[in-house]
Amino acid sequence: ALPEAALELHSVSGGYGGTAVLHDVSFTVPRGQIVALLGPNGAGKTTLLRTASGLLRPAAGTIAVNGADLTTASPARRAKAGLCLIPEGRGIWRSLTVRENLRLQVPKWATADRIDEVIETFPILRHRLHQVAGTMSGGEQQMLALSRAFLSQANIVLLDEVSMGLAPRIVDEIFQVLQKLAATGAALLLVEQYVTRALAMADRVVMLHRGAVAFDGLPSELDEDAIVRGYLGVG
Ligand code: ATP
Repeated sequence: ALPEAALELHSVSGGYGGTAVLHDVSFTVPRGQIVALLGPNGAGKTTLLRTASGLLRPAAGTIAVNGADLTTASPARRAKAGLCLIPEGRGIWRSLTVRENLRLQVPKWATADRIDEVIETFPILRHRLHQVAGTMSGGEQQMLALSRAFLSQANIVLLDEVSMGLAPRIVDEIFQVLQKLAATGAALLLVEQYVTRALAMADRVVMLHRGAVAFDGLPSELDEDAIVRGYLGVG
């Protein structure tokens, strides 16, 4: 059986070469829950997602994916273990069609009929299979990016600012898709600029300040003081 904590970070430090960004970061993302990762610009949120997904190697600490210590595993091995990163800027092939994107996103270990299932989840894509991805609207492109989590049947999904630049109505649709994903048992770690919206949807909140955890708890426990401390580092 899968452990309760899908993703576990224990005393993770790291950054880029000699530049330390993350300091002794520990928290878990439970199965079926949405954890909002908040913090001011430069706090280290993207660095944390990159480290958790294996694009950056931590300098210290451990990272467990579905109970297995994958601290030094490649991004591909982590993907196979169930982890999927939806990066900032979406990570889709803009010059290829939607169908070609979907085909490329199906991992080797998944079956081809996953594409049909995913189109059920994202009806918006059904009529656009032959459209070049880069010519779609921002919201449609983001839906295509999110489809990767469903195609790979990931149960840990890391999302970096998926609502960036999108109209509020589209953001609502995207958040509905994320809630659907969590309802299937996936663990979501969500970096989000819309703090209020993120808090409304999240089961837990982790706030980073200068690369360290400044708050880890329930959204209801996060009062204004904690937000001010997290974002401004005062109080
Ligand atoms: P934002 O909300 O602005 O995206 P963030 O919380 O995601 O911020 P990061 O992008 O993780 O923050 O950046 C954390 C720190 O790491 C910053 O000081 C940034 O300048 C630094 N940094 C980011 N990318 C690199 C890189 N490739 N090389 C060196 N330093 C980097």
